[in-house]
Amino acid sequence: MRGDGAWRTCRQPAGYGTTHPGYGPCKFHYGSTPSVVRSATRLMIRGEARKLCETRGVDPDSVTPERVMMEELARSYAVVNFLESQTDVDAAMWPDWQAVMLAERKHMVAVAKMMIDAGIAERHVKIIEDQARVLGQAVRTILDRLELTPEQRSQAPIVVREVMAALPAGT
Ligand SMILES: [Zn+2]
Repeated sequence: MRGDGAWRTCRQPAGYGTTHPGYGPCKFHYGSTPSVVRSATRLMIRGEARKLCETRGVDPDSVTPERVMMEELARSYAVVNFLESQTDVDAAMWPDWQAVMLAERKHMVAVAKMMIDAGIAERHVKIIEDQARVLGQAVRTILDRLELTPEQRSQAPIVVREVMAALPAGT
């Protein structure tokens, strides 16, 4: 859709007949010339990415480089673990998967190194330490308030350790 020389609006939908449907001028209004294709394609990528974020409930403003790297490391770690778990499951597929796994492991280590270099790992560890400190304090307060007998009190660390060990990773 675009005003033509006579200031009438083109009746074609945006990007009609081009490689960028929905964005930029139609094929009758220079929509297929290289420079227009380039700029319209940029618009299309941005627009489609925004739509994808909306359908997935992702807020692009909340994305930080740290979060991207942390998620990438977690994703890569999951892939490596899955592939490792397949060693026994499907021996026939293994030679092919081994190459994929080795590549993924390299990638995982590279991401981890980038995070360490950027200080992300330390910050992440500090967050976990802070959470653990708060949780530990809460547990101590709860135990104090319960006014346990000395015998119950002596059992408390064992119970706490068992419960903590059973918590899902990342808590
Ligand atoms: Zn047009």
